[in-house]
Amino acid sequence: MRDDPQDLDYARGQQWHARQAHARSEWQRMRDQAVTVPCPIPPLGCGMPAGAACVTRTPGEPPKLLTRFPAHSARTALAKKLADQQRKEASNA
Ligand SMILES: [Zn+2]
Repeated sequence: MRDDPQDLDYARGQQWHARQAHARSEWQRMRDQAVTVPCPIPPLGCGMPAGAACVTRTPGEPPKLLTRFPAHSARTALAKKLADQQRKEASNA
């Protein structure tokens, strides 16, 4: 029923869950792509080698796995650039 406010709430809920799921899968895809390249050294990144996830580099604190972002933005950008380059070369070959 369209006029039932409970139905509207349910529809909003579904959209919200869909957006969250999309954001989660996108996040994981970005992290998977980012770990294919090493992270730039500080201050741009954390200097973690390829295959290892980014960690925080707060002075005076032990390194912690990055949880709010898939990786340092410099690393995400580098991985994206390399992936785009490889895709371009593959399409030219
Ligand atoms: Zn990093």
